[in-house]
Amino acid sequence: MTGLEPVSASGRPPAPCPECTRWRAERARARAAGDRTRAADCVVLLRRHQAAVHLRVVGR
Ligand SMILES: [Zn+2]
Repeated sequence: MTGLEPVSASGRPPAPCPECTRWRAERARARAAGDRTRAADCVVLLRRHQAAVHLRVVGR
């Protein structure tokens, strides 16, 4: 199979999350272009996405 995988019935995200992959690629692109502001934004957005979607509660 190629492309997007469906979220499993257990509610866990597909292993290579396309959204995470997208933000990491965007961050790498921004860094390559020397755009630190954009790279920092990508990190924030990636973390926000992970907190919202992957919902791994830590330290509680
Ligand atoms: Zn993700």
